[in-house]
Amino acid sequence: MTLLDGKRIAKEIREELRLKVSGMSRKPSLAVVLVGQDPASEIYVRGKIKACEEVGIRSLSYRLPTDAAQMQVEELVKSLAEQSDVDGILLQLPLPKHLNAEKILGLIPFEKDVDGFSPVNVGKIALGEDGISACTPLGIMELLSRYGICFSGKRAVVIGRSKIVGRPLALLLLNRDATVTVCHSKTAQLKEECRRADILIAAIGKERFITADMVKEGAAVVDVGINRGQDGKLCGDVDFDGVKEKALFLTPVPGGVGPMTIAMLLRNTVEAAEKRNG
Ligand code: NDP
Repeated sequence: MTLLDGKRIAKEIREELRLKVSGMSRKPSLAVVLVGQDPASEIYVRGKIKACEEVGIRSLSYRLPTDAAQMQVEELVKSLAEQSDVDGILLQLPLPKHLNAEKILGLIPFEKDVDGFSPVNVGKIALGEDGISACTPLGIMELLSRYGICFSGKRAVVIGRSKIVGRPLALLLLNRDATVTVCHSKTAQLKEECRRADILIAAIGKERFITADMVKEGAAVVDVGINRGQDGKLCGDVDFDGVKEKALFLTPVPGGVGPMTIAMLLRNTVEAAEKRNG
């Protein structure tokens, strides 16, 4: 079994980006908007800002209180949309419950939407056009590609249909000529569906849900899940120890998909700046 080492590949990508940014006359900049004090979001934002610094992207941090009004967040995003020196806008999700996230995301111009969540970019990817893809699905595609795994004609099974992982990933796989099945909580005969997969991707959020008997011999298995196991340690959606005996490729948790997600945010930001620099 070959470990799909997202930590190593993400480091390589950051180094490539650092070199590219060092040659740019105007440095890319990313505006990060955080509303409230969700502890997980605080950690994610800190990680993203640190990664930006590492490759030479200028990060601008905007913090609003938990009780910020819809209008206040909208005004901030609108003003960032207009600023010519801002290349990317990241609205850290989830937002406090009283805010309409979809409406705010819709205010981010698609060319600055480096998270790939705006309706225009989602639509472009759905139509197979050139758009900014969501970072986690893009990171998975990049990780598999860098290990020489091709998609064309392969049977790919994605478990999970969320807006941020499952759905956009299914579209990216389809755009690369895989034959794609999307499974979810209402899927009948999930085990049989999984066992047909050449590429199996689990984005469920349930500790060690995918067991060896659900995996085809020689499959590439990607574990997107981040769960806190009963032992208190981080674990994925895949039973790593069992599945490693059958899979040809497998991602670890942590150190698999997670670092790739941040690397793709950086790459989307650099590419957005390149386009704006002309
Ligand atoms: P969601 O909760 O939004 O979606 C989970 C999906 O899993 C749903 O589509 C749900 O189906 C499906 N599901 C739940 N139970 C079952 C079941 N018993 N059988 C089949 N399908 C099931 O989660 P996300 O997509 O946001 O995240 C998934 C996991 O990935 C989480 O652990 C999250 O922390 C992690 N994650 C990791 C990232 C990274 O960078 N590494 C980034 C984003 C997420 P239904 O639609 O029917 O409810």
